[in-house]
Amino acid sequence: MSRGDMAKPLLGHRNTESDPNTPAAGRTIGVLGSGDFARSLAIRLVCSGFKVVVGSRNPKRKASLFPSAAEVTFQAEAVKKTDVIFVAVFREHYSTLCDLADVLAGKILVDVSNNTEINHHKESNAEYLASLFPACTVVKGFNVVSAWTLQSGARDGNKQVLICSNNQEAKRTVAEIAQVMGFTPVDMGCMSSACEIENIPLRLLPAWKIPIFLSLGLFLCFFTYNLIRQVIHPYIREQKNKLYKIPIEVVNTTLPCVAYVMLSLVYLPGVLAACLQLYYGTKYKRFPDWLDQWLQHRKQIGLLSFFSAALHAVYSLCLPMRRSHRYQLIEMAVKQAVEKKMNIWVEEEVWRMEIYISVGIIALGLLSLLAITSLPSIANSLNWREFSFIQSTLGFIALVISTLHTLTYGWSRAFDENQYKFYLPPTYTLTLLVPCTVILAKVFFNLPCIRQRLVRIRRGWEKGRYVKFVLPSTTGEYSSGETSSNV
Ligand code: NAP
Repeated sequence: MSRGDMAKPLLGHRNTESDPNTPAAGRTIGVLGSGDFARSLAIRLVCSGFKVVVGSRNPKRKASLFPSAAEVTFQAEAVKKTDVIFVAVFREHYSTLCDLADVLAGKILVDVSNNTEINHHKESNAEYLASLFPACTVVKGFNVVSAWTLQSGARDGNKQVLICSNNQEAKRTVAEIAQVMGFTPVDMGCMSSACEIENIPLRLLPAWKIPIFLSLGLFLCFFTYNLIRQVIHPYIREQKNKLYKIPIEVVNTTLPCVAYVMLSLVYLPGVLAACLQLYYGTKYKRFPDWLDQWLQHRKQIGLLSFFSAALHAVYSLCLPMRRSHRYQLIEMAVKQAVEKKMNIWVEEEVWRMEIYISVGIIALGLLSLLAITSLPSIANSLNWREFSFIQSTLGFIALVISTLHTLTYGWSRAFDENQYKFYLPPTYTLTLLVPCTVILAKVFFNLPCIRQRLVRIRRGWEKGRYVKFVLPSTTGEYSSGETSSNV
């Protein structure tokens, strides 16, 4: 970012510079350190209407890196000019700030530091800073946003800033500053949460672990199954070397299986939850933990299903590019010429392929829509009904269309004896099991009597509980009484 750019507001739509009602705007904020984070923070603070004073060990050398509106001076000088100081220095260097203890006394220190490992130290960095400066109030915050997010504006990155401190007033002050900068402060309670906040940036895809293992597990199972059918079987039975099929053909028959089964696994926990609610006759009984976890991972499972489906589409488009495909085509053409076969058109096959490809494209289109609308920025722009229509209704339609895609692919192969290699049924018949169960269950739940009961349960009705009811009488007046709600 050039020096000229630094002066431009980063958040055009939320620039609070001129908002006199915001108590935090206009105050002076100190930043200790002149590294990447300090620089981005200073730029953002200036753009949000704050006066910024940067404390550096070498202000002359570092001044040119900061916007001209920010004052860059020695650490002690900077600290004297403000009550709120962001400590943009690594934990290892906190002790070098101890000389400033007197001038820092009574001030708010914002600890923005991160570690390199989860639970690296016994005490959190913020608690360590507080122990070094007992006369200061320490607030943990801003460590979950990167220097890049600070510079590019909250609209391009994570908007939440997690804050904790033992001092409510100091926490409120820092939260106000975060808000003016365009972030959403999240109160994480007292200082004991600092460790948890410091671990957040170090966690690698915590919500994705189970879905990724699930899709890898499915991939391995289907890959092995297809390998046995497409490569090992011809080798053992006919001594034919079909190893060349592994990189593309076997992978391409595996990917749609993963995509299809994963899509059904997005809707299966909903079906199980509905079964439990119908069985217990209440929505107030907790689901088992594994079901809770499964329900929470549906978005990731759906996105991985889309990923596999997209790869399947690309692989399928590349099939005709292979040398093996060309050789096979030429071989077939020569064979037909030798046999003097002129009419090779099989009407049924033509229709099967047309329908198979067409429904495949529609299914992929719907999956793309589901994937896009699950992104927080898009999901936030939808109301609850729009979101549930896309994710629930269109998602279910995508599952039905994917089933048609699978059925038109398999066609009558399930009834062909030759397709049972080593007595193993064609792969597509296996993939149909879970999705068809989900589809049948959904149809069952949509039967008027079942649907009505489910709707009542989800509105708070409970089996066996007596509720007060109010009924309109024939004269138009209302009469009240008590009845068993499951009657
Ligand atoms: P950096 O570029 O290495 O800057 C660290 C700064 O600390 C230096 O520029 C230096 O400024 C100052 N410092 C003060 N005493 C020091 C000493 N004794 N030895 C060395 N440097 C000293 O690091 P950074 O990326 O800005 O990170 C700063 C803090 O922000 C870290 O705690 C980090 O965990 C946290 N953080 C960074 C990011 C990010 O995206 N970079 C994101 C979240 C949190 P002077 O030479 O001017 O004194």
